[in-house]
Amino acid sequence: MFKPIISDTDTRFQLQCLDKFPHIFSVSKHDDFAAVLRFEIQDAESFPVPLLWDNTRYPRLIFICPCCCEKRLYLYGASNGWACRKCLKLNYVVQSMGTEDRLRKRLRKLRHSIWGAEASLDTFERSYPFSKPKRKRFDSFLNDVEKLNLIEDRYLGIVQQRFVRLDKVINALARKVNLI
Ligand SMILES: [Zn+2]
Repeated sequence: MFKPIISDTDTRFQLQCLDKFPHIFSVSKHDDFAAVLRFEIQDAESFPVPLLWDNTRYPRLIFICPCCCEKRLYLYGASNGWACRKCLKLNYVVQSMGTEDRLRKRLRKLRHSIWGAEASLDTFERSYPFSKPKRKRFDSFLNDVEKLNLIEDRYLGIVQQRFVRLDKVINALARKVNLI
């Protein structure tokens, strides 16, 4: 998706991402790379992510991980930068995502059983005991929402911890980044 813009050094671009990762960037030229994406981050200089053409028959733009300088097809975001799975020690994070995924599925299912097609898909939002569906009795509706809130609170707690861990790792990385 970066292909059409790697020569456009005058524009501020925006990535469409739901999470609060650095998403505004500009492109700068560099002799050793196809281009360098410079993400705007708070309280620091831009966070550089170099792009390179790989030497396959149909060349693709790939990333250089700003931390380990290895070629990578994917980078992962945190609140203040991007790095590869290995550098972000994502295995640990991914393990704990088992619980996170299970909770997310459970809370979506429960919401659906309460509100049907009207159920909110936003798992970062806590549900409130409003908009009781007509077919439901009020006390069982309140019970269900209370049960749902317990799951939502556990889920949000785990997500929060994951973001704190990712932030720590990427903060340490950002200090080490002196590639360019
Ligand atoms: Zn890396």
